[in-house]
Parts: sequence; C-alpha cells; structure tokens
Amino acid sequence: MHSVEGKRGMPSPKPPFPAVSGLWGKSTTINNVETLASVPSIILKGAAEYRSVGTENSPGTKTFAVTGCVANTGLVEVPFGTTLREIIFDIAGGVIGPDGEVDNSQFKAAQTGGPSGGCLTAEHLDLPMDFDSLRSIGAMVGSGGLVVMNKSTCMVNTARFFMQFTQNESCGKCTPCREGTKQMLALLDDICEGKGTPESVALLEETAKAVSKASLCGLGKTAPNPVLSTLRYFRDEYMAHVNNKVCPAGQCKALSKPHIDPTKCKGCTACARKCPVNAISGTVKNPHVIDQMACIGCGTCLQTCKFGAISK
Ligand code: SF4
Ligand code: SF4
Ligand code: SF4
Repeated sequence: MHSVEGKRGMPSPKPPFPAVSGLWGKSTTINNVETLASVPSIILKGAAEYRSVGTENSPGTKTFAVTGCVANTGLVEVPFGTTLREIIFDIAGGVIGPDGEVDNSQFKAAQTGGPSGGCLTAEHLDLPMDFDSLRSIGAMVGSGGLVVMNKSTCMVNTARFFMQFTQNESCGKCTPCREGTKQMLALLDDICEGKGTPESVALLEETAKAVSKASLCGLGKTAPNPVLSTLRYFRDEYMAHVNNKVCPAGQCKALSKPHIDPTKCKGCTACARKCPVNAISGTVKNPHVIDQMACIGCGTCLQTCKFGAISK
C-alpha cells in the first residue's frame, strides 16, 4: 500500500509524489535505543550540558559493549574521546592472557563497530574513541561493539568469523555484496585450511576493495572492513598461512603445530632440550612456549612431555 500522510486535515499527496510509506502508513522515525535514551537528558538539562563531555564533533557519551579477552566484560558508558587504553586497561580491568591471568602485554587487537568494523592495534591504544578518530584509521564507532583479542588470537580466522556473519546477512540484492562476500569467505576458508597461496591473499584484497566500492548499501560497503584492516596491520599472519603453512597463533586446526598449555607446564625443560630446531623457549620451572614459525611439526615434544602439557 502506498500512502503518504499529509499534515492533519490536509489531503495526502498522490503519486507521482514519491511513494513513501512509514509504519501503518504513518510518519515513522527509526532510531536505535541509545540515541533515544540520550534525548530526555538533552531536553531536561540542555544541549550545552550534553556537549560538556565528549569531543567537538562527537559530543556526549557512548556505550561500548566490551567483550573478549578482558577481565570485566559488559556495557560501559564513557565520554566520547576516552582512549582505548582507558576502556580496556582501566575500566574493563585489563587483558586476559592465554593462561587466564590479567596481562596487558598480551593485548593484540580490538575490533570496534561490530562485524563490519575494523581492528585497532597496540599503536592505537591512545586513540580517542570518537567518530572522526576511528574513521581516520579505517575503523568505526558503529554499533559500539568492542571485541578485545589477546596474542593467542589468529587475525585471519577473526576476519573469517566476521565475514561469515556479513555473508549470512547479505540480502542478495546487488551482485558485488552477494557474490563478493561469498568469494571472500571462500578465500579466507582456503587460507585458514592451508590451501591458500599468495595469489589468494592478493585476490582477497582486490575483492574486498571492489565490494567496498561497488555495493549498494552500508552492509556491503563495510563488510570488507575486517579483511582490509587485518591485512593492513597483520599481513605477516596472512603470509605465514600461505607461504609457511603456519598459523602463528596456533588457532587454525589444519595448520596447527603443537602448543604448550601454560597451566600444565612444569618448566622441566625436557621438550626444549629435545627439539631439533630449538623452537621451544622458557626457563626452569616456568611455562615454556613453542615458536609456531620455527616449529617443523616433527612431534618429538609431544612424546617427551610427561605432564600432558603439549597438545596439537
Ligand atoms: S550491499 Fe546491501 S543491498 Fe547489496 S546485497 Fe548487500 S545487503 Fe543487499
Ligand atoms: S614438534 Fe618438533 S619442531 Fe615443533 S616444537 Fe615440537 S620438537 Fe620442536
Ligand atoms: S616437557 Fe612439558 S612440562 Fe617440561 S617444559 Fe616442556 S611442556 Fe613444560
């Protein structure tokens, strides 16, 4: 039904006026809950009070949904312009490392803005979290999602995870998004499964740029963001997957090499002494670590550890 409600008592315009119809044929406003929640305080206290926090172009506060490898997950409301460091290290209680302990040196990346956002790295920890700053580095405020990742996270697999989501959400109306997200997902699958080549990475990047430019709506235009931002900051991880057939984080099962569970390792040093390529490091009585890039996958350490600390 085409219906445009005019002013009260006035006849509704008839086509050829644009046939726009809101809910039940009425004027309709669509806003997210966070926007509407800001309205009462602006009405009650005035715009100046609202603008007294935040930045010039991003006034007021923003609620971030902090999740992933942090001590305290949940919703945090902060003035726009608060730094990533303050949100993660102070408010969210710090980064949780693979051993389950708080260790901020384990920070690797944070994905902002939901599945279509971009990733931030340690060099962005002091970046003010506002619209302009995030846009300037190819990320976005978006939905306010903030997924924190530690050093045991594979960034290629992370891009694949988000691409799976946006591919499912693509409505299929336009070809660049409908086909492009499928192709990007297939390429990411190949890379994570050890079937990728350097050409796969080049094609992935080329496709991501094309989908971003040619898609019809915001979903398709932003769907490549996780791919492009992980390629920008973690290209070496992509290349390790395709050139060395190694997942440096040890997350991609098809490429997995043995890794040591720090909660089970007694630091007896036996594995390090047996490794033919000196890929295992650590000190006596402290958890040891396997350098995934150096490991040749011979399996000797798996048979050596008497404490069940090494697995594939
Ligand atoms: S870009 Fe938008 S319109 Fe095009 S297929 Fe994706 S979701 Fe649909
Ligand atoms: S699998 Fe072999 S090369 Fe890799 S860490 Fe164990 S002993 Fe070293
Ligand atoms: S052999 Fe096992 S317990 Fe000993 S250092 Fe290696 S992983 Fe740790």
